[in-house]
Amino acid sequence: MLKKLASGLRSVMQKLLKAGSIDEKLLDEIIKDIQRTLIEADVNIDLVFELSKRIKERALKEKPLPGFTQKEYVIKVIYDELVKLVGEKPEIMLKPGKILLIGLFGSGKTTTAGKLALFYRKRGLRPALIGCDTHREAAMDQIEQIAKQLSLPYFISREIKDACEIAKQGMEKLKKYDILIFDSAGRDALDKELAEELKKLKQAINPDEVLLVIPADLGQVAKKQAEEFNKLVGITGVVITKLDGTAKGGGALTACAVANANVKFIGFGEKPEAFDVFNPERFISRLIGMGDIESLLEKAKQAISQEKAKTMQEKLASGKFDLNDFKEQILAMRKVGPLSSVLEHIPGLGLALPKNLDLSREEEKLKKFCVIIDSMTKEERANPSIINASRIRRIARGSGTSEEEVRELLRYYEQAKQIAKMVKGRGMMKFLRKFGLRM
Ligand code: GDP
Ligand code: MG
Repeated sequence: MLKKLASGLRSVMQKLLKAGSIDEKLLDEIIKDIQRTLIEADVNIDLVFELSKRIKERALKEKPLPGFTQKEYVIKVIYDELVKLVGEKPEIMLKPGKILLIGLFGSGKTTTAGKLALFYRKRGLRPALIGCDTHREAAMDQIEQIAKQLSLPYFISREIKDACEIAKQGMEKLKKYDILIFDSAGRDALDKELAEELKKLKQAINPDEVLLVIPADLGQVAKKQAEEFNKLVGITGVVITKLDGTAKGGGALTACAVANANVKFIGFGEKPEAFDVFNPERFISRLIGMGDIESLLEKAKQAISQEKAKTMQEKLASGKFDLNDFKEQILAMRKVGPLSSVLEHIPGLGLALPKNLDLSREEEKLKKFCVIIDSMTKEERANPSIINASRIRRIARGSGTSEEEVRELLRYYEQAKQIAKMVKGRGMMKFLRKFGLRM
């Protein structure tokens, strides 16, 4: 997600970390790098300049907080300002209620309906879908398909042509469910007809949330769209979709923040799991590559026990990292969801894997890695450095793999370990804790 923005910000952080001390010249250089990176992500130029000014002022004038070196403090300032730039932490409805999704054609409304349902089901609420897009022929089929795929209760009609009528019948039929998610029709633009239709639908449903779905590739144009929909229909929040497929995501997020449209959820793939609450702090710490253990743990909680999660957290924080840990990470990841959406959460591993990799092949590979690790002795797992050529031969034979595959596993492990060490060596964990991030 947002690879270019991420790599730009990461290299700024690296530059800062490598520098001996910080003077105005370095600060200017770094601010220029940040500007370039943000403008490339389609962030509005005025916003970028305001941000630069604030970073410079604060970095030069403010005294570092107790316990911070000046360098750490400058990183904290940059982090703070980036977090502010993308908006406020949203309030998410976590009780029974009705959610109406609105937006233009192809913005991702129907896909988001399924994703939201899954989100609520994971949190113990019972969701159901209601298809109110009477405009496009295939819309009802699409809702039906998503509902069946995710085993969700749903209500659609291919006969009723009035969206409000479908909504009313749907509410009646599905009233025992906690969260009713209403899909609606789009248009190519927010014209009078669409505005009228959505206003009526809103009145018929009386929803607790009206979420505007905006694709990230709109970039800073998202501001105008959010403002218009808000004025004509009224919205309670925004879902930014397709963050996986565009370089302009930074522009879309910051534009919504300026429009006072609270981004509540983000979508970053076609799969139902490629979806999350939008948390500005988590989002930025992930972008700037500070291995977001917190969000991994949040996801992993659903798959592994609290106890186990705690041990893993302690292990990561302590910098100890043997093949047992490596395997546990792989297993936890595979339980948590599709590889693509969790890889980047794993400190070390996420960064160690090559870019543009074929994820289904990669998933096979990870499965094989587990088998290989299982064929090792306890000693080898705890102390991988003893694994020599003859041990590699034995492990390959024992696991039914090739020696090259065993070597490949060891290479992956080494890389992951190196990166984990590097990050720790730079005191990253320590000062992230000072940020108030729970690590
Ligand atoms: P709607 O017209 O607003 O209901 O949009 P749809 O939900 O039908 O989505 C339009 C297209 O965008 C579909 O092909 C979806 O699979 C795709 N899509 C939706 N959300 C995402 C996303 O977050 N990432 C990617 N890559 N594609 C998405
Ligand atoms: Mg649709």
